[in-house]
Amino acid sequence: MVSKKDTPAASRFPWMICCECIMINFVHRYKVEPKSKVSLRRWEPGDHRAFSGEKKDAERVLLKLTEQLSQLQEVLYAEHKHKILIIFQAMDTGGKDGTIKAVFREMAPQGIHVSSFKVPTAEELDHDYLWRIHKCGPAKGEIVLFNRSHYEDLLTVRVHQLVPEDVWRKRFAQINDFERMLAEEGTTIIKFYLNISKKEQKKRLQERSEDPTKRWKFSPNDLSERKLWEEYMKAYEDVFSLTSTAYAPWYIVPADRNWYRNLCVATIVVDALKKLKMKYPRPRLNRHRQV
Ligand code: ATP
Ligand code: MG
Repeated sequence: MVSKKDTPAASRFPWMICCECIMINFVHRYKVEPKSKVSLRRWEPGDHRAFSGEKKDAERVLLKLTEQLSQLQEVLYAEHKHKILIIFQAMDTGGKDGTIKAVFREMAPQGIHVSSFKVPTAEELDHDYLWRIHKCGPAKGEIVLFNRSHYEDLLTVRVHQLVPEDVWRKRFAQINDFERMLAEEGTTIIKFYLNISKKEQKKRLQERSEDPTKRWKFSPNDLSERKLWEEYMKAYEDVFSLTSTAYAPWYIVPADRNWYRNLCVATIVVDALKKLKMKYPRPRLNRHRQV
């Protein structure tokens, strides 16, 4: 009799093989190489070619990835060495909340925290723009997710001319310096842009305004921001071209299909955590004490 143990892993878990191969594809396909010039017209929001399966297959793979993430989080917490910062940026309805909910659903709440950055308060505006950001960063063993971030100070702030150009222009270099310092101090930084098309945003805004379960999320501000779509795209292109670095890379994730977006983000995070080669610490046993 052939036991479960003797069967090749690939036939027991067909997703495993495809999981390994999409992992390579996703990571390289959507990463913004440092110093490359990004034109968003070349990044398709509807792309789904790095996964050969369908939506139902993707859900199975995602489940496995979220379980892997949960195991990796446990070692991260136990080892108490690395800090993980994952940044999400997107246009309105881009799916930041949905991605966080789907990808990090298996995580232990004591080791993960979400920080959402809204319009700065009066107190925050009285400080430099990184003041509110720095204090929300991850501690050792922790994962922190930023729902919007210091990049708003190069996006909304630029598009709405909230500060003069000579002030925001300096922020590309300041942010690179800030992130390099975090990385040198042990923080792994991954930055995601959830790339939805203008057409998909229209559909989602319509749903938000009509569906009673989504209406609470709708803000007339979303419509005025939509009118500035082109200006935002230009600002985002500069952000990707100037702040994707080896120590804090940007990933531009196709986000018109939620299942593909989730798979992409989960795969890239699993890959980054695996590369840390984390280990459970040695037990601190006192041999002279009996249990
Ligand atoms: P949702 O998808 O649920 O709408 P959201 O992230 O868009 O989530 P909102 O409360 O709708 O949340 O919007 C937050 C607003 O805060 C955004 O319009 C964003 O541009 C703005 N904001 C964030 N940081 C800054 C900043 N530094 N300066 C000015 N505005 C900012
Ligand atoms: Mg909003």
